[in-house]
Amino acid sequence: MIIKMMGKADGDNYTLDDMFVSSAAQREGDGQEEERMRSRAVGESRRLNASMEKCRLCFSSPELHKHLVVAIGSKRVNLRVFPVAVQVYLSLPEGVSMTEGHCRICPLQHHCAATGLDEDVWSEMQLFRRTLVKMFEAQEMDCVFMETHMNPRRRQHMALECLPLPRELGDMAPIYFKKAILDCDEEWAMNKKVVDLSSKDIRHAVPRGLPYFAVDFGLQGGFAHVIENEQKFPHYFGKEVVGGMMDLEPRRWRKMIRENFDDQRKKVLQFAQWWKPYDCTKAPEDG
Ligand SMILES: [Zn+2]
Repeated sequence: MIIKMMGKADGDNYTLDDMFVSSAAQREGDGQEEERMRSRAVGESRRLNASMEKCRLCFSSPELHKHLVVAIGSKRVNLRVFPVAVQVYLSLPEGVSMTEGHCRICPLQHHCAATGLDEDVWSEMQLFRRTLVKMFEAQEMDCVFMETHMNPRRRQHMALECLPLPRELGDMAPIYFKKAILDCDEEWAMNKKVVDLSSKDIRHAVPRGLPYFAVDFGLQGGFAHVIENEQKFPHYFGKEVVGGMMDLEPRRWRKMIRENFDDQRKKVLQFAQWWKPYDCTKAPEDG
């Protein structure tokens, strides 16, 4: 009986000590965890600052090629419907365009992916998208909108690329893209390979922070793919699909081909002419 009680007491002592030790360890752990979180946050903001300083797409950046900008923000959305700051701009690529009319919609501020965009930035991008679809429709062209979000840790500035293509090819684009996505990356993917965007946009289809590729066809929702292996997924994936459909040379999309200032100016003037009658940044009564 006594032995039994001692045994029990010992057991309790042991448990008490153990509890004490573990809660002390916990306190220490909390401190360490806090410190870790703090240094991670500092590291992240330092990385973000570093990527913003060199960013060629931030509107406030000295690196931005302002002469390639075709349109900025939307007065109609900003002033008349809801008073928010201008959020996005439309510009042409600094290298040789992959197809005539190749352009991109970018947020003015340093945002890294559509999955992290606020509603106001997103809705202004969609306004530009609708305008481009209308503009290319008048030229009997379809267009695809693509976003490639890779290496999330590098925090690169996002761009929604728009590539116009002849209507008969545009009709085929969903088939080509679906096949290319099914064949890309890892054969045994952890995530569903093709995410359907016909009834939900990318922000509701792919969790924030994951690398992905997304394509939409004109005003129709297209597909997204969560990139499983960034080594096996080329950054020019979407352009390669369009380039293949159009029978272009691979050098047109693999690397940027430099373009001189005069040629850049020419394509901007041409694009501005197409854009003017549809310009969504002008209130209807302005024009
Ligand atoms: Zn930026």
